[in-house]
Amino acid sequence: MKSDANVQRILEDATHGRPITKAEAVQLLHLPENSLEASLLRSTANVVSRHRFANSGLLLGQIGVNMAPCEGDCAFCFFAKSHTSIQSALLPVEEIIARCERFARGGAQGVFLMTMHHFGFEWFRDLCAELRRLIPAQLEILANVGDITTAQLRELRTAGVTGAYHVCRLREGIDSCMTPADRKKTIERILEAGLAWYNMCEPLGPEHTPEELAEQIWLGVDLPCTQHGVMQRFPVPGSPLYHYGQVSLPRLGQVAAVVALATIGQENVKSIAVNVSNLVGLFSGANAFFPEAGEPDEQVIQAERAAQAKAGFTTALWRQSNEITTADCRAMMTAAGFSHLIGTDGKPKMTLQA
Ligand code: SF4
Repeated sequence: MKSDANVQRILEDATHGRPITKAEAVQLLHLPENSLEASLLRSTANVVSRHRFANSGLLLGQIGVNMAPCEGDCAFCFFAKSHTSIQSALLPVEEIIARCERFARGGAQGVFLMTMHHFGFEWFRDLCAELRRLIPAQLEILANVGDITTAQLRELRTAGVTGAYHVCRLREGIDSCMTPADRKKTIERILEAGLAWYNMCEPLGPEHTPEELAEQIWLGVDLPCTQHGVMQRFPVPGSPLYHYGQVSLPRLGQVAAVVALATIGQENVKSIAVNVSNLVGLFSGANAFFPEAGEPDEQVIQAERAAQAKAGFTTALWRQSNEITTADCRAMMTAAGFSHLIGTDGKPKMTLQA
């Protein structure tokens, strides 16, 4: 079996430090996910990223602090007002603090506080300020909120927020009620306010064409993001996009690889994230995960072990729940041969134990 000479040349150049062009990204995204060339693409990105990020990974936790039927009404989202059945609720501050402490214990360097598209700005700002006083100092507070003004972003910065996740999504304005222009404006404001910008190619589904993927990825190539990456769409039953299903892990890895090779040489990009957290991603150029829960409580683990020991057990017995924990993420990174966890600045923070 012989691989395509043109793909070989692009990948060879990437190993020598030349980022791929948008046209090359389209070509690489056209490769069938289980072809020899797609495998070479993922392997090349793996080698490039291991070197670029010193074989180290980053963990950033995520907490949904409010939920409500959302006006953003995205055709893929669990919270979209047209098809959700959830009731409005706020997560109590004590619970947020407890979750933050578990994230910090598990090696997470920051936590994304997620809201709906519309949210109470003063409430969120005050929550961030309160958390900044009460949660471990090394855990950065990162905002994942709707479109807001530069002045509001500056207020968040003053309250202790260091970065914000914001994306002009795939098919924004078609599969959502927001406009690409508004999303891009908020991204520019994030940078203007001096916050780190966290970006991704999302929500990736099987229907997205190589051309639209490259177009969406390139906003994070043209503007200075701190983190780029890729997130797959989870098919939410009852949502309009449910019938499309979801991409395979090799396809998710292929897009992660393209993002990694497109951002070669960009000093501002400190990590490449993949969500859902998975091993294929770690072998495709990604080095950052978003754990859904922090370190499982030792007492809970012991109690579960004791209970399961009586009734037989599986290798999942130490897990607290189905949420992907910091312990799960560290285990995957260790299994993938990563040596350290890093901070959001890319500097080593702790050794990963084999
Ligand atoms: S704006 Fe966010 S929370 Fe609201 S429907 Fe869209 S993806 Fe869901």
